[in-house]
Formats: sequence, C-alpha cells, structure tokens
Amino acid sequence: MIQIEENKSLKELNSFGIDAKASAFLFLEEFADLVSLPEIVSSFGAVQIMGEGSNILFTGDYDGLVILNRLGGIEFENVEGDNVIVHAGGGVNWDDLVNVCCDKGYNGLENLSLIPGTVGAAPVQNIGAYGVELKDIMISCDTLNIRTGESRQFLNIECEFGYRNSIFKRKYKNELLITSVKFKLTKEKSFILSYRELQEKFQHTDKEELTASEIRDFVKSVRESKLPNPEEIGNAGSFFKNPELTKSKLGRVQKKHGKLTFFKIGDKYKIPAAWLIEQSGLKGVREGNTGTYINQPLVIVNYGVESGKEIQAFSKKIQNKVYEKFGIMLETEVNII
Ligand SMILES: Cc1cc2nc3c(=O)[nH]c(=O)nc-3n(C[C@H](O)[C@H](O)[C@H](O)COP(=O)(O)OP(=O)(O)OC[C@H]3O[C@@H](n4cnc5c(N)ncnc54)[C@H](O)[C@@H]3O)c2cc1C
Repeated sequence: MIQIEENKSLKELNSFGIDAKASAFLFLEEFADLVSLPEIVSSFGAVQIMGEGSNILFTGDYDGLVILNRLGGIEFENVEGDNVIVHAGGGVNWDDLVNVCCDKGYNGLENLSLIPGTVGAAPVQNIGAYGVELKDIMISCDTLNIRTGESRQFLNIECEFGYRNSIFKRKYKNELLITSVKFKLTKEKSFILSYRELQEKFQHTDKEELTASEIRDFVKSVRESKLPNPEEIGNAGSFFKNPELTKSKLGRVQKKHGKLTFFKIGDKYKIPAAWLIEQSGLKGVREGNTGTYINQPLVIVNYGVESGKEIQAFSKKIQNKVYEKFGIMLETEVNII
C-alpha cells in the first residue's frame, strides 16, 4: 500500500544535493500500486514525477506531490535468437540495466554506460552519449496517465524523439508516468564506434573479438576522467544543450568570430556548448558556492549552495555571457523546478 510522507527532504534524492522539501511524497515500488495512483494524485494540484533526480534542479521547496519511481524488474525475451528483447521496469537503475546486458553479450546499450538515472527517465530526454541515443534501441514504452489512470503503450515513432527531447518532456510532462521500457538488443557485434574516442581506442582491435563489456569499461573510464561524480560533488551532468544552428545563423556567427568548432548533423550545425562557455571565459570558474567544472564547463557543480536559486542565477549568467559574445542563447537541458 502506498504511504504518503509529508515535508520530505529531497536532499539525498537529487544529484545536485539540493535540500528542497516536498510537501507530500510517495515511493512507488509495486506495479500493483499503480491502480490507486490516480485517486491519490487527484488530491494534489502539482505533481512531480522523479527517478533518481539526476536531471533536476530544485530552486525551492516543492508544494505538491513528488512521486519517486522505483518500479523494478528486468526480463529478457527471444534469448535464443539474435535479436533479444529486454523489458525493464521504469524504476530500474539505468546503469544496472546496461551492466546486465553487457555481461550477457546483448549488445546495444554499451555506449550509454554510466549515465545516472532510471530506465523510465531515459526516454524523457532521449538520453545519449558516444554516438548512441535511446531512440536507436528502444522499441516501446508503457505509460500510465497519473490523473485518468489510462494505460498507453508508445511505439518508438510515437515518442517524437529529438536531441534530448521527446513527447514526454513536452506535452505529457508530469502527466504520463513511464512504467516500463522495451529495448531491442542484438548478439551481433554491430558496435557503434564512430565517436572519435571509441574510434581511436578500438581501431586496431579485431571487431569479432571485441565485446560490449570492453566498450562499456572504456566508456566508463573516459566518463570518470571527465565528469564529476555526483556522490562527491553535486551536479546534474550537462546543464545546457548543444545549440543547433541553421546554416545562415552559423554563417553570421562565423563572420563575427572567425573559426568555430561545430558538427554538421542533418541540415543543422551543432556547436558544443562547452566550447562556447570556455570561449566566454567561464571554464572552471567558481562563484560563491557554485561554478563550472574544471574538466567540463558544461557541468555546473554545487560546492555547498543553500538553495538551487544560486545555481539557477549562475546558469543565467552563463547564458548571458555566451549570448553577449556569440549571439547564441543556450537552452537548459536540466529540468528547473
Ligand atoms: C554526472 C552526470 C552525467 C550525465 N550524463 C548524461 C549523458 O551522458 N547523457 C544524457 O542524456 N544525460 C546525462 N545526464 C542526465 C541524466 O542522467 C539523464 O537525464 C537521466 O535520464 C535522468 O534520470 P533520472 O531518473 O535521474 O531522472 P530525473 O532527474 O528524476 O527526472 C528527469 C525528468 O524526467 C521525468 N521523469 C523521470 N522519471 C520519469 C518516468 N518514469 N516517467 C515520466 N517522466 C519521468 C522527470 O519528471 C523530469 O522531468 C547526466 C547526469 C549526471 C548527473
């Protein structure tokens, strides 16, 4: 049975380590409890769905109900064939899922190793790293409308996936709870090694000998060397998205600034936000109890802020500085609440 806690501290439940309090809080662990959720939710105006809080910045206490999703379970289907289907509960830790699949030689998730958070949050911003996005391997996800109680399965194509975006981040935010996700993995050695660091590392490796676990280990070591561990220093990974410019906008920026770092993706030109921040003189800068991480300026860190507002104010300063220099407004990737 679901228990509601009042005035619950979320400090240990968000990777920034912000000591916000939720006026009401519930822990969702059993699929059987989903039936009673709409009735509980009906007593609250504001509801916030949470996984592991690794892409959230609380700027104050939350006056409403926080639902913490820990719906578990991992099942494998079609294990005799080459294409294995993996069905995981929305509250499963993402990296635990990646680890199990790599161990079993079910390939496809290895590039997404060590991304913090839950399986259910992964489709929300279409998580991505090292040349792979969730949309590349997801078949479908099951959702529950927390107000009406209606269940609906979304096929990949219906999720309107984009760069760190989906229908769940926009239209259905805090309305649909992703209860489980299905992935299509393969036993074939069709690894994605197009990302520069992976290419360099494995260029001389016999691809038939290579395993998902080796790729996972390498991705983990690169990530550990670049990104701050939230258990040691509060952060939510990349605070901003990499801006995508049209050709004409890129041309205008180039005209003013000369050489730019960018990648062509489809008909858009993606400029690394980290580069823009560094060029604006904000790499490794500390202001009060917040700042940008020394090895990766796209990550804002918490050195002990009293409130998430301090981090939000610093993020606005970054946006303003980058805008003044390049005329590009950085969009936040983190959900500010
Ligand atoms: C050190 C670090 C590195 C990171 N690296 C990457 C990276 O490489 N690539 C990347 O894409 N992201 C990265 N992130 C961001 C983060 O890991 C992902 O966004 C992750 O999917 C968030 O999962 P979560 O469970 O913590 O979600 P939360 O932070 O709890 O929630 C994020 C959003 O999803 C919604 N949500 C959560 N669960 C559900 C659900 N079950 N149903 C519906 N809505 C839900 C929430 O309402 C919120 O809007 C990084 C974060 C950190 C701290």
